[in-house]
Amino acid sequence: MAEEYQPKVIEKKWQKKWEEENIYQVFEDEQKKKKYILEMFPYPSGELHMGHVRNYAIGDVIARYNSMQGFNVLQPMGYDAFGMPAENAAIERGIHPKIWTDANIEAMRKQLKTLGISYDWSREISTCEPEYYRWGQWLFLKFMEKGLVYRKKSQVNWCSSCVTVLANEQVKAGLCWRCGSKVESKELAQWFFRITEYAEDLLKDLKILEGWPERVKIMQENWIGRSEGAMVNFELEDGEKIPVFTTRPDTLFGCTFFLFASEHPLVDKMVSGTEQEKAVRDFKRKVAEETEIDRTSTEIEKNGVFVGKYAINPVNGEKIPIYLADYVFMGYGTGAVMAVPAHDERDFVFARKYGIPVTVVIQPEGQKLDGATMEEAYIGEGKMVNSGDFSGMDSKEGVRAVTNLLKGQGKGDFTINYRLRDWLVSRQRYWGNPIPIVYCDSCGTVPVSVEDLPVVLPQNVDFKAKTVSPLASDPEFVNTTCPKCSGAAKRETDTMDTFTCSSWYFLRYSSAYEDKAPFDSKAVDYWMPVDQYIGGIEHAIMHLLYARFFTKIINDMGLCKVREPFHNLLTQGMVIKDGAKMSKSKGNVVDPGNIITRYGADTARLFILFASPPEKELEWSDQGVEGCYRFLNRVWRVVLENKQSFKNQSSQVDGEEEKQLRHQMHKTTKKVTDDIERFNFNTAISATMELVNANYRYNESRAKSQRSGVLLREVAERLILLLSPFAPHISDELWEAIGKKESTFFERWPSYDKALAKAEEITLIVQVNGKVRDRISVVADMSRDELERIALSSEKAGKYTEGRNIIKVITVPGKLVNIVVK
Ligand SMILES: [Zn+2]
Ligand SMILES: [Zn+2]
Repeated sequence: MAEEYQPKVIEKKWQKKWEEENIYQVFEDEQKKKKYILEMFPYPSGELHMGHVRNYAIGDVIARYNSMQGFNVLQPMGYDAFGMPAENAAIERGIHPKIWTDANIEAMRKQLKTLGISYDWSREISTCEPEYYRWGQWLFLKFMEKGLVYRKKSQVNWCSSCVTVLANEQVKAGLCWRCGSKVESKELAQWFFRITEYAEDLLKDLKILEGWPERVKIMQENWIGRSEGAMVNFELEDGEKIPVFTTRPDTLFGCTFFLFASEHPLVDKMVSGTEQEKAVRDFKRKVAEETEIDRTSTEIEKNGVFVGKYAINPVNGEKIPIYLADYVFMGYGTGAVMAVPAHDERDFVFARKYGIPVTVVIQPEGQKLDGATMEEAYIGEGKMVNSGDFSGMDSKEGVRAVTNLLKGQGKGDFTINYRLRDWLVSRQRYWGNPIPIVYCDSCGTVPVSVEDLPVVLPQNVDFKAKTVSPLASDPEFVNTTCPKCSGAAKRETDTMDTFTCSSWYFLRYSSAYEDKAPFDSKAVDYWMPVDQYIGGIEHAIMHLLYARFFTKIINDMGLCKVREPFHNLLTQGMVIKDGAKMSKSKGNVVDPGNIITRYGADTARLFILFASPPEKELEWSDQGVEGCYRFLNRVWRVVLENKQSFKNQSSQVDGEEEKQLRHQMHKTTKKVTDDIERFNFNTAISATMELVNANYRYNESRAKSQRSGVLLREVAERLILLLSPFAPHISDELWEAIGKKESTFFERWPSYDKALAKAEEITLIVQVNGKVRDRISVVADMSRDELERIALSSEKAGKYTEGRNIIKVITVPGKLVNIVVK
């Protein structure tokens, strides 16, 4: 009888061996094709959670598989080490952020190593080390030379709980992305990256990202928010010209009032000393307290106030009243809006509330709208009416015609507007990358010269200081000399948004020890782009947009050849338990450390890959973990038990049983190969389980002496290799037990006999609510579960089920799956 499977013992043994022999370290090799597999690096909280394990297990299967396919595979790991939690720990517990962070990194590295991921640890980076952040400062200065960095006083998002400003991307439905507090508006001078300069580029290149989930691309597209329309110049009574953006210049004749955002800089000037002054000031104060979500909601009543002034409609010369409205933002367009109540929903509601005339200028076909009696806005197309010479024209044509008229009179032009705003990067916090700028009384704002980088983050800072930023509390840091005139000067005391650190770390991995530049361009050109990037969907806008922006600038600087950093993107789903996201407050957290101690890392990895396709949510199940552990035990026994039969090398002719097992082996190899390519790890694992079952069946049907040792050896080897990307420790142990010298990592991925692997294929019809949405070619003898899994992960059908409740799934095996949604 074979000895017992003891994951604890064998996992330690192999992790030690792999590390000592440095088997996962890679070098640039022009003779070999490369693959760069990357998982988003973690924030070093000190605790590895199941989401991490899932992320890294997925990456490791892809990395190991590609290595065995003969690629030169880079899979690195590092830490996104700056950020608020370290600083909060300093404030609450009196531990210095550096000490807290270093201890957490230490702990996490240890935990990561127990997972047995094939990382090249020689490239490990941590963004809070001067060797790294120095180059973030260098990039800041280079971007500045290119005119892509500027400082400006403006209304910014302020989180009083985090005591810092936030970028637009970091405000989610009016709340702080980090702490969930209500975000306020504040006027401050801040540093910005001119991401809007790349708006068109970032949008256009989404089209070439074929390996990205549609969902992420749509989110970025919407965030960039390109719209074509016209810029129209309205004139105020005092002659001041106010440009406004509209996508509907064809409705201009129906503009009966004019709106300003309450934050608009002109507002105070307009009302100063007038009788409307008090009402306007009261209104501004009220709006400042409203959340952005309230202000944009169509459910909540919109408010406004008359300013007491008028603007001139440029097409008909009519005097129209100016209001402030809470639904108009400084952030969108110019902070001023031409209001056309007959043809815009919110303008309509606003006009009715404040008794402003509603003039119909577009008549839909077959209807007769009346501005006095209509009950809602008409936003569609139709015939232009009440529009001077344009009356009778098709509204679609009118868009162009009206803009041309304005253009001819110098009162407007065709234009493209973006929703995207420049990226606010300064933060009033300590634990971040210092902004390399000094302020000199005689020279003004002066960049630190690159030879003097890094501007090192000082150690002795009062974290509770009531200064604008904790760095301002350290006179030794603040007081410096001007790089230009050598006179006394003061340093910038803001640090950079930590998202700047994560916008280029994937480049740094190519040459982590480079000390003359952010990275070695030759190494970057070898490894980039990242062939497979894996991370959470929550980064769809922030990190994934910023990283694309950085890469484009760096490409424009001639430092790297790629313009897009991530060739393929996989966004993994959340790990949940009892139907909810794991969280300490809900008490449903499963600690990976406990699972690894009890069952081993191989079981943890296997379960997490088996329980659900990677992009779907994964429901934690203790029984599922047990099941995977039992499976590995079965693999262990069947291989070691058959080892005895390997001796039976008599070249008997295959009987029916042998034929069947051999057939199953080739079929399984094909299935696992195809499934890994498509990231269907769960079905790959279940195919392996079936092969193990077939192996047991064969052993039962044949007397020991009659078993084909040749075949059993083949099946055992095959099984181990197919399993090795998922469960590398047990694989290497069994590989050694059957007499092999090297790690499975150095083996070639098994090939299969096409004729033997060929299974009958059928077309699976995927329906959503009875309508055919996809046709997928599948193997004929798939189980009901498997068919459903495949249907539910169809991207085409997913477009119709996205965000809707699945009521039931009706499956006719061998034919169709109908997903019923509400
Ligand atoms: Zn906050
Ligand atoms: Zn100076």
